Amino acid sequence: EIAFYQDRFIEVDEPVIPIQERGHQFGDGIYEVIRVYNGVPFTMREHMERMEESAGLIRMELPYPAQEIERLALEALRRSDILEAEIYIQITRGIHIRQHHFPEPAASALSIIIKDARIVPEDKRMSGVDVITRDDVRWKLCYVKSLNLLPNVMAKQEAVEAGAQEALFVDNNVVKEGSSSNVFIVKDGIVKTHPATKGILHGITRRVVIDTAREAGIPLEETRFTTEELHEADEAFLTSTTMELLSIRQVDHHLLSESRLVTDRLFAAFQEKKEKERSNWH
Ligand code: PMP
Repeated sequence: EIAFYQDRFIEVDEPVIPIQERGHQFGDGIYEVIRVYNGVPFTMREHMERMEESAGLIRMELPYPAQEIERLALEALRRSDILEAEIYIQITRGIHIRQHHFPEPAASALSIIIKDARIVPEDKRMSGVDVITRDDVRWKLCYVKSLNLLPNVMAKQEAVEAGAQEALFVDNNVVKEGSSSNVFIVKDGIVKTHPATKGILHGITRRVVIDTAREAGIPLEETRFTTEELHEADEAFLTSTTMELLSIRQVDHHLLSESRLVTDRLFAAFQEKKEKERSNWH
């Protein structure tokens, strides 16, 4: 493991964050998680673009140009010697005496951590995972990949306590996304996922799966679906950088049908996409 803070490479457990760091005090910042397969990052460009968008949405200047942040992340990766890795990038509005409004002049701060990837165990991948549903109590700008994750933390903890993998946020009976994933259902051969509104995170894996479905000629609609539609789905799965595509077995103790036809096709196509991007990596 290796880390970077502000302007230098450090050990992950080196104490470097001053008490008046705005990420620490306000959660005033944004982040990205990028998966590295056998030394090569997947969808790095898409993650860098979303990082710039999230920073823009909270009116935060990046401490370095995005290209330089990417270069530092790749340098950290190289130094870490980890092949199956996760790159965590966090940018906060930096260090300033505590006040709510922005520091002047801007002083945003970059953190990078390279660590071992959390790989989904094969038995979970085969069996599928259980999820619970929870009321979506989050703010209206969930498309910002912000550090403010308290509702996500609370929901995930409830999932863990219920022996489940994930908690799905439901708003007025509409299934939106997981606490750290997007969610898809399949009904009568049609794949559905919540549209990319301001109310959900625009997952990179979600986008890859949508593109993959289109390329494979699998019908897909970015449309809202209800809790009942989830219960009655032929198939359902989660997507995220760390989970990839992960089949859902049970929702709130309600067993889904055992069919995996479309999920397996999409998973296979996703693996091909990884291979393809890998062979094009500079
Ligand atoms: N939704 C939320 C709320 C998340 O935190 C994440 C993971 N960061 C996702 C969806 C999945 O996004 P991605 O595919 O970019 O990892």
